[in-house]
Amino acid sequence: MKLAQRVTKVPASMTLAISAKAKAMKAEGLDVCSFSAGEPDFQTPEHIKEAAKRALDEGKTRYGPAAGEPKLREAIAKKLQINNRLNYESSNIIVTNGGKQSLFNLILALIETGDEVIIPVPYWVSYPEMVKLAEGTPVLVPTEASNGYKITPEQLRKATTSKSKLFVLNSPSNPTGMVYSPAEIRALAEVIVEKDLWVVSDEIYEKILYDGAEHLSIGAVNPDVFSRTIISNGFAKSYAMTGWRVGYTAAPVELIKAMTRIQGHSTSNVCTFAQYGAIAALEGSQEPLKIMLEAFTERRRFILDGIAAIPTLSCPQPNGAFYVYINIGETGMNSRDFCNLLLDRHHVAAVPGIAFGSDREIRMSYATDLTSIEKGLERLEKFVASL
Ligand code: PLP
Repeated sequence: MKLAQRVTKVPASMTLAISAKAKAMKAEGLDVCSFSAGEPDFQTPEHIKEAAKRALDEGKTRYGPAAGEPKLREAIAKKLQINNRLNYESSNIIVTNGGKQSLFNLILALIETGDEVIIPVPYWVSYPEMVKLAEGTPVLVPTEASNGYKITPEQLRKATTSKSKLFVLNSPSNPTGMVYSPAEIRALAEVIVEKDLWVVSDEIYEKILYDGAEHLSIGAVNPDVFSRTIISNGFAKSYAMTGWRVGYTAAPVELIKAMTRIQGHSTSNVCTFAQYGAIAALEGSQEPLKIMLEAFTERRRFILDGIAAIPTLSCPQPNGAFYVYINIGETGMNSRDFCNLLLDRHHVAAVPGIAFGSDREIRMSYATDLTSIEKGLERLEKFVASL
């Protein structure tokens, strides 16, 4: 079969491959400590589940508008106004099948052959692949651990050419967990306006913050950058709703209409009753998020202390999301060999940094229980000592 070139250029997800291997080992009865998951290990809060059940009982089981349930679009616009100081109406919102479809559809609506998309490295695995599927050109800009893996305004300015159309900003970041400070966001906003770029701000981890870190949504900096901003967000991480598949984009109406046309001809609306769960997530108690954050805070401290005690490993202190991005450079190994051996010999699953575009690091997620973290760290230490 001769497949379309667009798909042959896209590799299979390495994060899924390592998770699949870890799962297969578990199924064989091996005691595997898994740090590879990109999802909270908590259940969706009860009141959200109840709202979806109620929607089912009320017969909300039919096709809905492709852009999403009007009540949810309104609730999202209100959330963005109140929490993020972004002046959106419901016409600026489209509800999507997770943050993933939000990003995919906005890239498809905005990017074409010849357009360059600036992506800081390390990046979330799907950004470059989505750009390639839209036949655009990803421009990958390596960042430094010493700068918390954050792109500087100078680096952004230097990466910009006459073909640059879009800059991808992800704070808090997957895979590094780093958060851009409000001053850093303002400095990037200046370059975006100066270079007349679009910016997509992927804010899916915005509520998962530690040590007083502050999330400033770039569109709130000033009206000039707001008019060039596209917000991508979702319910998966903050509300432990990964399987529900509800996300959204907020953007100028023209882009939302274009994305609605794409969605209207591809997936149609997001599962109707799941959207009622999302309304409850926004309008109901935020207490479950606090409980989840308390657990993440304790685990983060534990894992950071554990890594600091292993001589050849190091990582900058992340203040968001639930990942640590660990430098393994001193071991002399590349990230794929390191992760494969760690899994084969010590039954610990971590994700090689090469999946995120950098080969001197590995990503460990601490969205797992403390006992597994403790056991996993002991095994990691033994492994590193054996090298
Ligand atoms: N953006 C980032 C940075 C992510 O880490 C993820 C999920 O891992 C997504 C977007 C997509 O999330 P979802 O499609 O589950 O809402």
